[in-house]
Amino acid sequence: MRIAILSDIHANLEALIAVLEDIEKQDLDAVLCLGDVVGYGPDPVECINTMKTISLFVLAGNHDHAAVDLTSAQDFNPVARAAVEWTRRQLDEPARAYLASLPLTRQDLGVYFVHGSPFRPEEWNYILSAADAGRAFDCFEEPVCFVGHSHVPLVLELGQDGRIRYRDPYGTVFQGDRRYIVNVGSVGQPRDGDPRAAYGIWDRTQKAFELRRVAYDVQSVQRKILQAGLPPLLAYRLAYGQ
Ligand code: ZN
Repeated sequence: MRIAILSDIHANLEALIAVLEDIEKQDLDAVLCLGDVVGYGPDPVECINTMKTISLFVLAGNHDHAAVDLTSAQDFNPVARAAVEWTRRQLDEPARAYLASLPLTRQDLGVYFVHGSPFRPEEWNYILSAADAGRAFDCFEEPVCFVGHSHVPLVLELGQDGRIRYRDPYGTVFQGDRRYIVNVGSVGQPRDGDPRAAYGIWDRTQKAFELRRVAYDVQSVQRKILQAGLPPLLAYRLAYGQ
């Protein structure tokens, strides 16, 4: 069984369509999403409707919850907050109800899924370092936890000696005596310096993870962002993967 894991689509429909075309070629068994379907980008409702149709499940991200007032946008920077307010105005009632219905975590297929961190999921904590991961490993039981939120692909391995090591997100085989936290990167706003859309393929049978990158029409999304009156920074950063 091979599963596509998407996260942080951020209303970037061009990136999402490119990723779905790549998924089509990979002959996968399921698609799931770790949250932040909306926020930043110009096509929130289209992205919601697409993910709703094709996903095994979709989790809530901080932008999804902020768009329906389930989490405060107070802590967001001014650009992100402006995008939340813009997004709120675009959502129709079914889209609002759908975002409000998304769960924070899911234990399924023998692993754990969450948008930010298993450590207090409702606080949207980031896992950026081995220290963040140490705390997070204590908060789930499964051998593997898949996350998004930072928009930076990452595989952290916890050995039996208690040490945490970095593994290659572009190809890691999960060892039976170790545990893993895997960040699948971002479809719609990558921040690792590579502007191509990112998503993960989890091979549940082979116990392996592989990050994939997909080029898409960045300029078309940039034009839409500027035309929509969203903060221009949200358009410019896409070209740099920042
Ligand atoms: Zn995000």
